[in-house]
Amino acid sequence: MTSTADVVVIGGGAIGSSVAFALARRGASVTLLDASTPGRATSASAGGLWSLGESLGLGCGVILHTAQKGVGDGPAPLPRTFMDFLWASNLRFPSLAAELRTLCGIDIEAESATGLLYLVYDDEQERHASRIVEWAGSDHGQVERWTPQHVHNREPLITHDLRSAIHFPGDNQVNPMLLTEALKRGACAKGARFIAEARVRAFRCSNGRVVAVESDKGTIACGAVVNAAGAWGAQIARLASIEIPIQPVRGQIICTEALRPGTLRSNLSTRDCYILQKAHGEVIIGSTTEYCDFNTEVRYEDMCSLAAGAIRAVPALRNVTLKRAWAGLRPGTPDELPILGPAAELENFFHATGGFRTGIVAAPLTGEVVAASVLGQTPEFPIEPFLAHRFQFLTA
Ligand SMILES: Cc1cc2nc3c(=O)[nH]c(=O)nc-3n(C[C@H](O)[C@H](O)[C@H](O)COP(=O)(O)OP(=O)(O)OC[C@H]3O[C@@H](n4cnc5c(N)ncnc54)[C@H](O)[C@@H]3O)c2cc1C
Repeated sequence: MTSTADVVVIGGGAIGSSVAFALARRGASVTLLDASTPGRATSASAGGLWSLGESLGLGCGVILHTAQKGVGDGPAPLPRTFMDFLWASNLRFPSLAAELRTLCGIDIEAESATGLLYLVYDDEQERHASRIVEWAGSDHGQVERWTPQHVHNREPLITHDLRSAIHFPGDNQVNPMLLTEALKRGACAKGARFIAEARVRAFRCSNGRVVAVESDKGTIACGAVVNAAGAWGAQIARLASIEIPIQPVRGQIICTEALRPGTLRSNLSTRDCYILQKAHGEVIIGSTTEYCDFNTEVRYEDMCSLAAGAIRAVPALRNVTLKRAWAGLRPGTPDELPILGPAAELENFFHATGGFRTGIVAAPLTGEVVAASVLGQTPEFPIEPFLAHRFQFLTA
C-alpha cells in the first residue's frame, strides 16, 4: 500500500511525538511511524524535568562520573547554550499540559512545585557544589544552597548525615508515558496519522532527496523525513547512507510499591542515584548510565547499588517493597548534546535524536525547532549548535 504525507516522522517516543505534534499544529500532513522496539527510552524514563540539574551534571551525569572515575572533581556542566535550551523547553510544560488536556483529555501530570534537591555528602562534593552554583549564576531563577537543618525541615525522611544540599526550584517532573501519548493523540487531533508496529526498512531516494519511506506497514511517499528513532537513530540514518554518532546508553531503574503521595516532596539526586515519587505514590529510583550496546538486561548487582544509594539518602526506604525494575536505552552522543535539524547529505532529511539523558524535558522545544526547520521557518531557538555537521570529523 502506498500513501503520501508532507512529512514522515520515524519514531513515536517523546521526541518523534513532539515533532509530529508541532508539525501537525502548523498544518503539515504528517505520518508518524513507530516499531515498538524493546528498550525505547521514553517508556523507561523517570520523567524528571531537570533543566538545570541535568545541565549542571547533577543527575545522571554525576552517577556516570562516579561510576567511571570515583568521586573526584565531579562532572563538568554541559554548555550554557544547551542549559538555555533546556530551560526554555522546561518553561513550556505548564501551557503544553493545559493545551493537551483540552485537546485530548490527558493529564500529563506535570508537577510544578516539587523542585530538585541535590544532596551533598562530603567535603569533595561540597567544593564541587560551590563551583557549579557559581557557574550557574542566577540567570535561570534562584539556585539555593540549603543547610542540613533546612533539608530536614522540608524533607524529614532524608538522612541527617549531610553536608548541605542544592535546591533547583524550577526542576520538576512529568509522566513521560502520558506526555508522549498526549502528544501523539494531539498530533492525530490536528490531522496526523500514527501507524504502530511500522518498522522502517528502507528509503527510496532520487536527486538528493528522499521520495518515499518503506515500512512493514507499507510505503509512504513524502516531502521530508524526520529521524526521531532515539538510540536507533544511527541505524535509520545509515539506511539513507548518513553517518551520525548515536550510541545507546543503558539506564536501569527500580520502582517501589505506592507510598502515600507527598511522602517525598522534592525530587532527590545524589552521586549514587536519583529518587522521585510519582503522582500515584510509587517511588522511582534511577538510574545507571552505561555504555553497553543494545543490551537491555537488568542486573541484580546494579539494582542493589541503586537501592543502597536510595537507602543512604532516605533511610526509611529500607522498609519499602520493590515492585518492578526495567532498563531503557538513551540516545547518547559524544558531546551529550542532541542532534537536531537538517542533514547535510540529503536535502529533505532531518534529525531529531540524541536526546540522551534530557530527552523528556527537551521534548517540547525540540518539537518546535525541528518542525520549524522542516517547514523552512526560522526556529525560535538557534539550531546551529545541535546540527549533525559538528561531528563530521568523527564520521569522515
Ligand atoms: C532509565 C532512564 C531514565 C531517564 N530519565 C529521564 C528523565 O528523568 N528526564 C529526561 O528528560 N530524560 C530522561 N531520560 C532520557 C529520555 O528518556 C530520552 O532522552 C528520550 O526518551 C528519548 O526519546 P526519543 O523519542 O528520542 O527515543 P525513544 O523513546 O527511544 O523513541 C524512539 C522510537 O523509535 C522507534 N524506532 C526505532 N527504530 C525504528 C524503526 N526502524 N522504524 C520505526 N520506528 C523505530 C522505537 O520503537 C522508539 O519508540 C531517561 C532515559 C532512561 C533510559
